[in-house]
Amino acid sequence: MNTHTFSPVSLTVAKFGGTSVADYAAMDRCADIILADPSVRVVVVSASSGVTNLLVALSAGVAENDKRLALLGQIAAIQYQILDALGRPAEVAATLDQLLTEMDKHSASLAHLPGEPARVDALLALGEQCSSLLFAELLRQRGEPARARDVREVMRTDSHHGRATPQLQELAQLAQGRWAVGLNAERIVTQGFIGADADGNTTTLGRGGSDFSAALLAEALGADNLAIWTDVDGIYSCDPRLVSGARPIPELSFDEAAEMATFGAKVLHPATILPAVRSGCAVFVGCSRSPELGGTWIRNQTELNPVYRAVSLRRNQTLLTVHSLNMLHAQGFLAELFAILARHRISVDLITTSEVSVALTLDSTGSDSGGRELLTPALLEELGQMCRVEVETGLALVAVIGNRIATTAGVGKRVFEVLENHNVRMICQGASAHNLCFLVDGSEVDPVVQELHGRLLEQV
Ligand code: ADP
Ligand code: ASP
Ligand code: MG
Repeated sequence: MNTHTFSPVSLTVAKFGGTSVADYAAMDRCADIILADPSVRVVVVSASSGVTNLLVALSAGVAENDKRLALLGQIAAIQYQILDALGRPAEVAATLDQLLTEMDKHSASLAHLPGEPARVDALLALGEQCSSLLFAELLRQRGEPARARDVREVMRTDSHHGRATPQLQELAQLAQGRWAVGLNAERIVTQGFIGADADGNTTTLGRGGSDFSAALLAEALGADNLAIWTDVDGIYSCDPRLVSGARPIPELSFDEAAEMATFGAKVLHPATILPAVRSGCAVFVGCSRSPELGGTWIRNQTELNPVYRAVSLRRNQTLLTVHSLNMLHAQGFLAELFAILARHRISVDLITTSEVSVALTLDSTGSDSGGRELLTPALLEELGQMCRVEVETGLALVAVIGNRIATTAGVGKRVFEVLENHNVRMICQGASAHNLCFLVDGSEVDPVVQELHGRLLEQV
């Protein structure tokens, strides 16, 4: 087939996560997947496994030069393994060296000025720039016209470093104007996770943001399918690393998948589903090591809609309780509280109220790339001026996800039977038909989730 003249009947954006592009062999398996599907015209890659964590460590400011150079050495070793397997083509080697030099420069300057947000983003973005450079070369060596393109040409965001918000209209215009035309001629290999503001400054979308990038590009380009290739063969009924009885789910609705991603199923970044819903793009999740196992399809409608579909969990939750006697019979207290949270770019997750207090957890969607805390001293100070604030940490959020949860008799009984011997710090149910959520102490969450999954999803 001559790919230069091929017009795909459908367009797929495929994203490959860190383990899928960890080394040459892993990248080569991804190439098999891409070459087998002519509809895949845009390939979004994460940084090779481990690289972003190393860059985050550097971004915190490593003052001891030996230690800093050792971290840079670890990154270089990961990237050079791939470059060597590619036969060290001169042009690619030169570009890779430039990227590694930039890492050195940014990390050296952060050693004296740790956490400076714009520079942290410039540093973190280099991981994806390395992996996309190498992966495009691998595709070309496999005989496929492919070009690494800088996602900052199209991924316009605001200037909020570490947790930037995409500017959807600009993104769509730029992607249509700059990328849509050439898609038939050569596949585009590009970076997840990173973007640029209107002044061209590099931004990042938050940890795990490559899924979100791929979904945004799929929406902007009007793709039919978004394929998320990772290290598991689909979305499971619970994290398979925690629950051995967890099973892959062949088909999920957008609503269920969005709830799972929001409430901690790390396999999808929490914001991934929304662009797909807006654009009606079907989402597939599969394993790049074993594509033959199939995976999960996420669509608008599904054939089966069971009451219990999955259990997910989010660790390290912070509960904020605000008390104020002014709340009693008063109007506007919640509006004021939410306005403060919004000014600090925090969206509320779970919430319960009593006459004089409100307890809430913070939505960690798009958690900051550099690992900065959502709950800043500035926020606490502002809240402290209007009410008494209590902060509890070390909690875990558990979500039972499914359908008709709020209108099916007996759900509460089945869930809370499991919790007989555990203290439940907070319960939320009713706003959505798709979830029941509660908070428990972080030290108790593993057995709670395992038992809950066993009772709800393993017993027939
Ligand atoms: P990638 O690097 O490809 O983005 P991630 O590590 O971010 O991959 O996500 C894949 C991991 O998500 C799996 O290895 C698995 O441990 C975890 N995970 C958590 N919950 C689920 C779930 N419900 N189904 C599948 N995987 C899950
Ligand atoms: N490389 C980034 C991270 O590790 C983004 C991603 O992999 O999705 O968070
Ligand atoms: Mg991920």
